[in-house]
Amino acid sequence: MHALTEAAIRRSLVNCSRSEAAALALPRDFAELDWASLDVLGWRDPKAELRGYLVHEQDGEPIGIALRAADTKMSSRRSAMCLLCHSVQSADAISLFTARRVGEAGRNGNTVGTYVCADLDCASRVRVVPPSAQHLDDELQALAVEEQAAGLRQRLRAFTADVTRR
Ligand SMILES: [Zn+2]
Repeated sequence: MHALTEAAIRRSLVNCSRSEAAALALPRDFAELDWASLDVLGWRDPKAELRGYLVHEQDGEPIGIALRAADTKMSSRRSAMCLLCHSVQSADAISLFTARRVGEAGRNGNTVGTYVCADLDCASRVRVVPPSAQHLDDELQALAVEEQAAGLRQRLRAFTADVTRR
């Protein structure tokens, strides 16, 4: 994605109030982000434990979703899959997040929930060559990575459509 300024990130959030957007804390490594390698910028709010954000691009425009993590953790003895990047991890590294829907639905307390990597760092996981492609040559490995990234972008779009549907 294209590099975004702090102001553009705050403006991109579609499902929180202006004061909430103004209060959010950016990721600690914001100044060093490698934007070109990111399909989505996802982070947990360093100052508000249960809050998190996913900002990505749709048709060249940044669109951000504010999320709230469940305050319960799943067991580390089980495994679970992130429904955005499809990585499988120990279940305590996956969290249930809810996003308030936009407009009247959101004001009435309506949310959309999904299971996502607890650190919201799906972007770095889709850049890792999957085990099923590790024996392949570089070109096919790159293709497998691009497929994972495309899947993440597609599922993000679907999730965003759920949150913004009126
Ligand atoms: Zn993920």
